Amino acid sequence: MHTATGKREHIPSCDRCAEPAIFFDPGSQRHLCERHLCLSVELRVIDSITRHEMVQDGDRIAVGLSGGKDSSVLLSILSRVVPEQWDAEIVAVTVDEGIAGYREETIQSAVSLAQQLGISHHIVSFQSLFGLTLDSLLGAHPLRACTACGILRKKALSDAAREIAATSIATGHNLDDAAQSVLMNYFRGDFERLLRDSSSREDRGFIRRIKPLHEINEKEITLYSMINGITVLLPECPYATTAFRAEVRTLQAAIEYHYPGASRRIIEGQESLNEQAKKTVRPGAVSYCATCGDPCSGTICQACGLLAGLKKRE
Ligand code: SF4
Ligand code: ZN
Repeated sequence: MHTATGKREHIPSCDRCAEPAIFFDPGSQRHLCERHLCLSVELRVIDSITRHEMVQDGDRIAVGLSGGKDSSVLLSILSRVVPEQWDAEIVAVTVDEGIAGYREETIQSAVSLAQQLGISHHIVSFQSLFGLTLDSLLGAHPLRACTACGILRKKALSDAAREIAATSIATGHNLDDAAQSVLMNYFRGDFERLLRDSSSREDRGFIRRIKPLHEINEKEITLYSMINGITVLLPECPYATTAFRAEVRTLQAAIEYHYPGASRRIIEGQESLNEQAKKTVRPGAVSYCATCGDPCSGTICQACGLLAGLKKRE
């Protein structure tokens, strides 16, 4: 390749073979070609699943498939690696929140990916579960869009997973998402949420949630999806820019740019904090929602609380 000044630009080779590198990992200081990047991602997902015992034989894993890049890459990798390593089944679940001008396209993308991979696919909607779309809810309720959306989507996924007798729910959260969540909890001063992982909630009536991509960063996922032709360009959710997360994402990306590996260190710090907390923090008592019966930490779950608040305002 030649630069604008006519000089030949040096393209480093992959550290595993002679092919040109397309990715440099500042953490391991490795250059990787297309093939070895994909291999590295898949092997690290298997390693992560194994170390954290995310999958067991006999599992039926409901993969939350939004149709976006992360969840599409997750479904694609799990559908390949899980049957090779475990006697477990993969099913895809898509939640239609009811966001006009955005959701139609992403659902279409989810439907075609599941078809292409031969994975059984279930679609549930806020409208059928809660009697309203996210658009109509936001029109009547001054809550921040992503907070309401997140609470209801979590419930929709749990309800759908229970309906199809899934043993766990896999979501496409990546390393960058995880680092942002830690930072958001610090900025909010939400110590309880920061340590929530240390109380092993899946043992207490919650369907287990697993995040097999939590050690893979956004850039690797983007490259993996492009190399494997997984993602088509999709519109961004119209509410995305209103989110606190959007501001934290900009900050986290800047920190990562100037201090490569910072996001990974944020997660490692969080994991050791959780390990320490497990020794001293006793899990809070679990109770069951008076409205829907879901396990929760008060008298009513967050989703039912949100919907009840809405009814009062009508
Ligand atoms: Fe929901 Fe916010 Fe994501 Fe849009 S950006 S789908 S409102 S969580
Ligand atoms: Zn409830």
